[in-house]
Amino acid sequence: MIDVPNPVDGSVVGQVEHHSEFEVRAAIDRTCAAFPAWSRLLAKQRSDILRKWFDLVSADKRAFAELMCRENGKCLTEALGEIEYGLGFVEWYAEEAKRVYGDTIPTHAQGAAVIVTKEPVGPVASITPWNFPFMMITRKVATALAAGCTIIIKPAEETPLTAYKLLEYARRAGIPEGVFEMVTGDPVLIGKLITSDARIKKISFTGSTVVGKLLARQSSDTLKKMTMELGGNAPFIVFDDSDIEQAAKGLVAAKLRNSGQVCISPNRVYVQSSIHDRFVQRVKELVEEIPVDQGLQERFVVGPLINAKAVSKVTELVDDARANGANVVLGGHLHAKGGLFYAPTILTEVTDAMQIQSTEIFGPVFPVYRFETEMEVIARANDTEYGLVAYAYTRDLGRAFRLSRNIESGMVILNSGSVGTASVPFGGVKQSGYGREGSYYGIEEYVQVKYTLMAGLD
Ligand code: ADP
Repeated sequence: MIDVPNPVDGSVVGQVEHHSEFEVRAAIDRTCAAFPAWSRLLAKQRSDILRKWFDLVSADKRAFAELMCRENGKCLTEALGEIEYGLGFVEWYAEEAKRVYGDTIPTHAQGAAVIVTKEPVGPVASITPWNFPFMMITRKVATALAAGCTIIIKPAEETPLTAYKLLEYARRAGIPEGVFEMVTGDPVLIGKLITSDARIKKISFTGSTVVGKLLARQSSDTLKKMTMELGGNAPFIVFDDSDIEQAAKGLVAAKLRNSGQVCISPNRVYVQSSIHDRFVQRVKELVEEIPVDQGLQERFVVGPLINAKAVSKVTELVDDARANGANVVLGGHLHAKGGLFYAPTILTEVTDAMQIQSTEIFGPVFPVYRFETEMEVIARANDTEYGLVAYAYTRDLGRAFRLSRNIESGMVILNSGSVGTASVPFGGVKQSGYGREGSYYGIEEYVQVKYTLMAGLD
């Protein structure tokens, strides 16, 4: 068995099985065996089952939220927010299942018809991270099942309990064995088994760029379709024509979500020189109002980081910035609560030469950079190997459009700190990956296009 610790105090929240190679192979076999029957169900039947899953989980949100607080450390308010977000995908794809339309194309030959249909790619596999233990599962499972695929998931070792609870509710909703399978154990072994199995037609991975590339390499022999949601290094740009209060609030909410452990977390805050001090002061006031605590209460708090490795990484990045001339305006150390709590930290006079500029922080740290002109800041925002999301605040319409056009990322969020919902395409470019999740684009990742020519009709 694998123990799942609570990041707040290290106590054991629960255990999951460490599946053997034999058990993982058997689960893959079941996922493949279930595909023909599941894919042949009427779209409406799959939709009704997904809707049932949505209803059952919706009736028990509180139990899911409390479990997520204990295994992930995020506060109850955030956990409940994640559940709304995650359930949104089940609802959306229960509906979308019925709308996987094809085309007819004007024929190129006399007495013929050209028909284009969309078919599920086949059995798929997914590997998920720990930062959204609920939403990561629902987003991948709902999309796959809606398209007519069956799916096997390996959740993160840190947060498998929420995932297994979702599986339990899925069974109660009538999602049978094989259609949705879950395995836990050695990630390296499981990764090898699913990537080398030719019957698995697609991998949907969310996690680090390093592991994403490894899985893509491992899958090359069996030529799988891939969706890769990898790391980010989001710029958050505040121009002097913006509403400073809104920008400060947007930044704090986006940054402190999940204690900064989010791939779309603002990672580089660029503030135009003329408003720099005023903006930093306001952000500091807002951050100081938010308590740092364990999260089993009804208010927003900054929780612990997920594990000791995460704490060391944040410490190292902040220490490096300080040693190279950054100003520590707030925090800059472990929080007095001890354990895995890191104090919310604001750094100013950060420069592009520091390690923190090119590294995904994954902690409650606001590195603030100064800039002078739009052209300069766009070039600096793009000066990263990642391209997941960029945020900017401005009230200049022309500038807003220029940012949307010139920033190299899969998502550009203007005058808001909030990105995701089920109806929009989430995903990145460059080393942040490829493929989209959510919206009607999301289901395209799970289907293949079939062209049928019907000749000899005259
Ligand atoms: P993080 O650093 O955020 O945990 P990872 O990319 O290491 O990001 O982990 C994301 C997911 O990938 C987790 O479920 C983890 O178990 C899995 N994982 C890590 N290494 C491998 C590997 N070599 N093969 C397959 N899966 C892996």
